[in-house]
Amino acid sequence: MFVGHIAVALAAKRVAPRTNFGLLALATQWADTLWPVLVLLGVERVEIRPGVTVMTPLDFISYPWSHSLLMLVVWGALAYAAYRRGGGRRDALVLAACVVSHWVLDWITHRPDMPLIPFVDIKLGLGLWNHPVAEVVLEGAMYLAGAWLYFTGTRGRDAVGRWAVAVLVVVLAAIWLASTFGPPPPSVDAVAWSALAALVFFGWAWWGDAHREPA
Ligand SMILES: [Zn+2]
Repeated sequence: MFVGHIAVALAAKRVAPRTNFGLLALATQWADTLWPVLVLLGVERVEIRPGVTVMTPLDFISYPWSHSLLMLVVWGALAYAAYRRGGGRRDALVLAACVVSHWVLDWITHRPDMPLIPFVDIKLGLGLWNHPVAEVVLEGAMYLAGAWLYFTGTRGRDAVGRWAVAVLVVVLAAIWLASTFGPPPPSVDAVAWSALAALVFFGWAWWGDAHREPA
């Protein structure tokens, strides 16, 4: 899942209106931000194997630190502890929930490769990636619902506020569709570096959201 995670961040802005959308997006995508770093360092492993699921050719061999349920709860708790003082209890709880939500959405889409606990051989996944129509409809609907909640809950104070997040939402949808229907990636390094490049989008989200206010 890609824009499905962003959908959670867009919706979360409704319950944590004082927290920047860029931070909420980083929280929902924390697992996929940490993961490419660990892949490039050789700590976690992925292979490109077309056919491993109908929709994605990525075979997630091992990713205990970025994608086990236990570690995402730990990362969520750390996010809560770090943000509580500045953001308040409620917003910190929302931020932590965003971090953990990544596991739940990946569990729905991935084949049973999602670890519960690092280095314990219990792996789960409902495998929605083997059902492309249902996956695209569900993820697309989540994204539209998240965008609707975000844009009806906030309004732009100026031109940047009116346009920056709106353009970003369209760009991310285009990237999602291109990667969903495009050819498999050329190498694991290319996958990792393009996942890391998503950091630019969190900065873009931060910039645009800082120019918006509760509607
Ligand atoms: Zn993930």
